[in-house]
Formats: sequence, C-alpha cells, structure tokens
Amino acid sequence: MPSATKKDYYETLGVARGADADEIRKAYRRLARKYHPDLNPGDKAAEERFKNVQEAYDILNDEKKRSIYDQYGFYSENIPPNGGGQSAGSGGMNFEGFDFAEYLRQQQQSAGHAETEGGGSFRDIFSQMFGGGRGRQASPQAERGADLEYGLNVDFWEAIRGTQVRLSILRQEICETCHGTGSAGSNVAVCPECDGTGTVTQMAGAMKFNLTCPRCGGSGRLKNTCPTCRGEGRVARPDTVEVRIPQGVSSGSRLRVAGKGNAGIAGGPDGDLYITVRVEEHPFFKRDGDNIDIQVPVTVSEAGLGAKIEVPTIDGRSLLKIPQGTQNGQKFRLREKGVFNARKNTRGDEIVEVVLRSPDVQNERTRELLRELAQVQPVDVRGDIWSQVQQPSV
Ligand SMILES: [Zn+2]
Ligand SMILES: [Zn+2]
Repeated sequence: MPSATKKDYYETLGVARGADADEIRKAYRRLARKYHPDLNPGDKAAEERFKNVQEAYDILNDEKKRSIYDQYGFYSENIPPNGGGQSAGSGGMNFEGFDFAEYLRQQQQSAGHAETEGGGSFRDIFSQMFGGGRGRQASPQAERGADLEYGLNVDFWEAIRGTQVRLSILRQEICETCHGTGSAGSNVAVCPECDGTGTVTQMAGAMKFNLTCPRCGGSGRLKNTCPTCRGEGRVARPDTVEVRIPQGVSSGSRLRVAGKGNAGIAGGPDGDLYITVRVEEHPFFKRDGDNIDIQVPVTVSEAGLGAKIEVPTIDGRSLLKIPQGTQNGQKFRLREKGVFNARKNTRGDEIVEVVLRSPDVQNERTRELLRELAQVQPVDVRGDIWSQVQQPSV
C-alpha cells in the first residue's frame, strides 16, 4: 500500500500543491479513465500509471494522509499526523459499473470459514478505497466486559437481618484453552491470502483496488481459531458468587459485585455484576422504607379510657401506651423499632395504626351498659358532617 519511497503525488495527478479536494478528485477521475487497464489491454506502462494514480489519490484525498505527505514527502501509517484534521471523506464519486453486492460477496468468500471477523461492511470498503479511515484493526481493541444483571428474591426476615447468598450465574470467562487470545497453536502462520503482505489487489467491476487483506485484517498473519471459544477468547461458564445482603436491604436495591460481570476482551477490565433485590412481603409487618407499618385492634374501652397495650415489633413484643380518647385510625410511633439500615447506620420506626373494634354484645348486661353510656354522655358524632355536604340552594 503506502510506500516509503519518495513520489510526487501532485505531479502524478497533474495538480498544483495547493489543489483543493475538488481539483484532486477531477484529476483522479480523468486519469483513472485514461489509464484504466480495460481501455489499455496489455499496456504495462498504462497499468503502472493507473496504479500510481490510485496511490496518489489515496493519499491526497485524505486530509490526514495528505498533511503527513506534505510534511515528510512520503506517507506512512506509522507517522502520527501533526495536528492535521480528520478526512472529510470523498463526496461525489462516480460508482457507475461497480457492483457492490457482488464485491461484498467476493470479499466474504475470500475471508471465509469460521473467521467471522473477515467479512467487510460497506463502510470498510469505502474507507479502504477512498482512504477515509484506517479500515479494520488487525488486532482486537481492548474492551471492558459487559455488566451482568441478576434479580434476587429475599424473604422479609433475611432482608431485616441481612444474609449471605450463594448465587449461581452464567458469565463470560477468559477461555482457558487460548487464554483469551482466540487463537490456537502458533500465532504466526503467514496469511495465504496476501502472502503476509497484508494487502490484496482486487478487481471490482472495471476498477482495480489495493485493499487491506480481508482474511488477516492487514496483519499478514493468520490466527488459527481456538476450537474451545471459536475465536471469541471467552466462554460462557456457570459461576457461583457469594453475595452479602446488607441488613435492612429494601426492595429494588441494586448491589454491585465488582469484577463479576463478563470478562473483558483483549485484556480489557471485567464488567460488574449487579443484583437487584426484591424483598418478599410479610403478612403482618409492612415495610415502608426503614419504617414498619402495622395495624392493631383496640377495644372501645381501651380507646376511650386509654391503655397500655402489647404490640408486635420485629424485635418481639413491645408496650404501646394509647391515650384516653384514642380514635379509630390514629397512628402511634414506636421510635427505633423499625428496620436497621446498615448503609445509614440508623433505625427506622414502627408506626402503629389502631383499629377500633366495637363490642360484640352477647348478653343483656352489656347491652344495658352501652345504653347507659349513651344516656350518661349523649354525643352527636355526626353533628358536623351536614354542613360539609350541604348543596347550594337552587
Ligand atoms: Zn479459546
Ligand atoms: Zn492476509
């Protein structure tokens, strides 16, 4: 492809050094037509000119390559551009007579076999033909492994007290056969497609192109695909992960286990494992964050006279004092009888809602007492509701 011998690409294309992209493109198209092998059968000189024109255009049409060439008098991929901008691409090319589908098919056939990386995309083809980019990387880029997401159900008490869980997961691990390289045996087989040069010449329709070898990706070497991982470098394997569920974990919490996601690619870091906890409900204790809500029945006497009643908490029985004249639905707070939150190092409260139970009259004596109560202290409990429901008069 690019050679380190000094060549005057501007002269080859017959343009001035200051020529703009449009002038270069026009010159290229004119010369490519003129020296095209199809129009000059058997003419070695024309073929040579055609190749030179291609090479010159490949460099001058790419802003980055052109700036390197202008600076050093030759172009090499190994020279970093000196502040040169990215290529703006090559708009307006004429692709008449170029069958991309056929071309792509040929590319894939020659790339062939189990090497899935071999197939090109249109973008690759474009970038290779017109120098818009570097094409495919010969060696895979280091890439972080993907994060894994798992759901975990824990029961109410496990969540309250915290627990240790052994989780069975399936994660991508480094292939032991190839140690993640994806290749088997010696890694230095010379690519037969390009004889190790990394470049192939392709006839596409009526045009001839120098392209990065699709089989080896330009490295000139061919890796033998690892049979265990089929070249992926990683294999899915079941794994067990010990997870500590912290005290007071709430439903929907996400726990992160660093490095237990999929293994990284080409030396990249491993992903993380995320566990979303779902806390099962308790039939009596209702969790509201770190608070516990319960409903407790009280008798009319207890509510009316006030009382000390025993109520359940997650620690066991606890004494709750309800004042005289307690109403149905009234709520009382038992401080720090809720859930201990290990993250905040605080404890929630228990909220007790009282539910008034009217007496189940089973004998005459009870009936008398209730009648007497009504006489001794007549109360109009519905007195103030009428003003609230009054409709405006018509
Ligand atoms: Zn392998
Ligand atoms: Zn090759």
